[in-house]
Amino acid sequence: MPNFGLTEEQEMLRELARKFADEELIPNAEQWDRDGVFPEDSINNARDLGLLNCTIPEAYGGMGLTYLDEVIINEELGRGDPGFATITGVTMLACHPLIYGGTEEQKIEYLGRVCNGKISAYCVTEPGAGSDVKAISTTAELDGDSYIINGAKMWIGGAGHADWFYVLARTGADNSLDSLSGFIVEANSEGLEVGKKEEKMGQRSSDTRAVRFNNVKVPKENLIGGVEGNGWLQAMTSFDRSRPMLASHALGNARGAMEEAWQYANERRTFGKPIFEHQSISFMLADMSTKIEAARLLAQKAASMLDKGERATLESAHAKRYAADIGMEVTTDSVQIFGGYGYSEEFPAARRMRGAKIYQIFGGTSQIQRLIIGRELNKGYKK
Ligand SMILES: Cc1cc2nc3c(=O)[nH]c(=O)nc-3n(C[C@H](O)[C@H](O)[C@H](O)COP(=O)(O)OP(=O)(O)OC[C@H]3O[C@@H](n4cnc5c(N)ncnc54)[C@H](O)[C@@H]3O)c2cc1C
Repeated sequence: MPNFGLTEEQEMLRELARKFADEELIPNAEQWDRDGVFPEDSINNARDLGLLNCTIPEAYGGMGLTYLDEVIINEELGRGDPGFATITGVTMLACHPLIYGGTEEQKIEYLGRVCNGKISAYCVTEPGAGSDVKAISTTAELDGDSYIINGAKMWIGGAGHADWFYVLARTGADNSLDSLSGFIVEANSEGLEVGKKEEKMGQRSSDTRAVRFNNVKVPKENLIGGVEGNGWLQAMTSFDRSRPMLASHALGNARGAMEEAWQYANERRTFGKPIFEHQSISFMLADMSTKIEAARLLAQKAASMLDKGERATLESAHAKRYAADIGMEVTTDSVQIFGGYGYSEEFPAARRMRGAKIYQIFGGTSQIQRLIIGRELNKGYKK
């Protein structure tokens, strides 16, 4: 693994996360995925070990680690079980708008709850608006000291277990970005309905549901930052800050698939020798390795820029797009190396491949990442 000067502490974090993944995630991943188990005990164990809430400041109970620390840890979680990584990642995603733009009271209360073991969920996507975030139609209307929220959200990770939701809604009458605002909504609010668990292709342990808001009354104090119109910036900043982590999940899952295929290639024999000795197989493994190394470098570069307080919209999009796409390639090639056994759910390759697909879709699709990359780079080319 490349190491451009990781500190001793970062090496220790990596080792801790790797051991946790080996002992607690990999042995359970198949059953969690098959039975759709939400692994509450393991989430608590990971938190107790200091592997979650990485970039929540210590002042609010978080680990106060760097983004680079976060991607190092999360690569190991993704390698352990991408479903588990998604569950814990989604809570972190919901915290980002607060870390970025919340009031001190909001941070103390809601980041504090997460650090004490509660789950939160990020409600942006709607049935009619996914990639086109600015097309959302959920509304929040001020009524005395409260906002009344109406609308529907779709594909919300962790919804069935959440204590509170980050909700992006429209506070203004026009369709401009300035009319978007972020809210903290308590899961037990009257009028908030959580839908059935979606039957997904992969990562079935991560709980994904629709959430409906029927005249949900939210105190004015839960408007994030206390000012209307900052929702777009909060949501987009959260994407920038969470995409390196998502990239690390995708590349971690790919690394798991490669490691499993590599081992199999040395055990499985055809034509009198291990299949690794057929050049087409060893070249496939070599290509997997190159792609994973490159994806890791992109994720770590974006994370390092965030640590320096730099704008990393371009780098985060590069990292997420590339890790998601090579994640699909590597896991598909892993199935190929396992031959017929790769197509069986008895072996991990199929689960890895199913689990890889979502990275090209959530957190902004691979097409949307290209759109961002093109737009960002064109600023330098356009006269
Ligand atoms: C398992 C899962 C978990 C999720 N978790 C969450 C969550 O926790 N919170 C949340 O808010 N959302 C979540 N999502 C939603 C996810 O972010 C959206 O599904 C995603 O952004 C795509 O939106 P869409 O499904 O509406 O597809 P659409 O936006 O309808 O896109 C359909 C296709 O068109 C392409 N496309 C769209 N616009 C363009 C364009 N301008 N140029 C080129 N191609 C384009 C897309 O790339 C895609 O291939 C989750 C989704 C899934 C499946």
